[in-house]
Amino acid sequence: MSRKTRKVQCNFCGSSQYEERRIEYLYSYKGKYLLVPNTPVEVCLNCGMIYYDAAVLKKIERRFFAIQENNEKPDSYIQMPTAVFA
Ligand SMILES: [Zn+2]
Repeated sequence: MSRKTRKVQCNFCGSSQYEERRIEYLYSYKGKYLLVPNTPVEVCLNCGMIYYDAAVLKKIERRFFAIQENNEKPDSYIQMPTAVFA
């Protein structure tokens, strides 16, 4: 199932009150990641459900693959520490 774009009413709670926000979106594909700060989303004010614009996701996806194929350089790299649960 793909993510739904914004509708007049929230799919979950039926509220029609949204707020535009910018979040850090983490795109992941087959174990590769692209962190996208400043991604515009709409958030349901009632239940907190986040709605992504399909065009925004497309853009992020295109950028991700361009970077994977070395056609584009990312703005920066971050290092992510990992710790195995034991
Ligand atoms: Zn809602």
